[in-house]
Amino acid sequence: MLSLYVHIPFCRTRCSYCDFYLVTRQDLVDPFFEALLAETRARLSLLKGRSVKAIHFGGGTPSLLPVRHLVRWLELASTYCSFTPDVEITLEANPEDLAGGRMFELHAAGINRLSIGVQSFIQRKLAALGRSHTREDALRAVRAAGDLFQSVSVDLICAVPCETRDEWASDLRDATALQLPHLSVYMLSVEPKTRLHRKVSRGEVTVPDEDIQATLYEDALGNLAGHGYRHYEVSNFSVEGHHSRYNLACWMREPYIGFGPSAHSFIREGGVEIRQANVSVLSRYIADPQNAVTFYEELSEKERFLEQVFLTLRINSGLDIGFLRKGNKLGHYMTEKIEELTARGWVLDEGGQLFLTSKGFLFADHIAGELVSD
Ligand code: SF4
Repeated sequence: MLSLYVHIPFCRTRCSYCDFYLVTRQDLVDPFFEALLAETRARLSLLKGRSVKAIHFGGGTPSLLPVRHLVRWLELASTYCSFTPDVEITLEANPEDLAGGRMFELHAAGINRLSIGVQSFIQRKLAALGRSHTREDALRAVRAAGDLFQSVSVDLICAVPCETRDEWASDLRDATALQLPHLSVYMLSVEPKTRLHRKVSRGEVTVPDEDIQATLYEDALGNLAGHGYRHYEVSNFSVEGHHSRYNLACWMREPYIGFGPSAHSFIREGGVEIRQANVSVLSRYIADPQNAVTFYEELSEKERFLEQVFLTLRINSGLDIGFLRKGNKLGHYMTEKIEELTARGWVLDEGGQLFLTSKGFLFADHIAGELVSD
């Protein structure tokens, strides 16, 4: 079973904290879509006869674009491969793009899951993040989406400059009151070369320190568990049956094919596992979409092992300690290492399966690194 990802690299403006590859020139939208169709045709051999269970339009801001483009791409893809009857088709959207009849158009195009970039319901936080929408835009969009789409997810960000526990509690209260089936909670990260980074460097704003970040994260875990959400990945929470199929497929190392600039793919062919990435510069992508792949790597046994450890911990599905010992140079130090991580309150050993604790989720990648260190 296959999943597909389409990267839409356009945004109206750049948010203060964002370091993704994107462009704000809307005159490139049409040439981009022609290139996307050309790339998809060139990948026919990877798609032909395959069954697709999830499609994810990510970005950037996919909701910014004319729906007719999404329709054309879906039509083309569906002639090459078959979509399962319950295929999940997700579109990442910003609240300000969902007014008027836009949601109905997206729904009619086949989108059945919206992932809405709300980030906060608090005007002060939205301004600090450089978001274009208001609290009212967000509430209106999320309520209307809930009435129309099979599944809706909202992204929230915590630890923005000067954020208090009360503000975060207010955001969680607003989000849970909407009774959404899925929530993603991200910790604000100050990335180099962003407006936020410049402000922090100049001392104009300060971001909450690690202890406060940990408190906010644990507040989210407690609050969302109390509202019936299952914590199924470091940043993701869902009610039964509403996890992101596309994201979970990626974390479970199932194959997916990515289209568009900077999109990644994971392919399995006759026992060989391949990771690929497309060129990340839009002008180069448009100039030669048939040859978009600029990175290609066949994974070694060691790389497969490392990926399995890192990803299994992220989704907390139980990391088999026997598997961990295999191909791991820690050898008999493994027992000591697990005892040390258990004493720190980061992991639990349940019948030979290692699970992260609530606190451990905060350090998932660090823990994985310790478990595989040479
Ligand atoms: S909408 Fe998303 S992708 Fe676009 S600039 Fe803001 S954070 Fe980045």
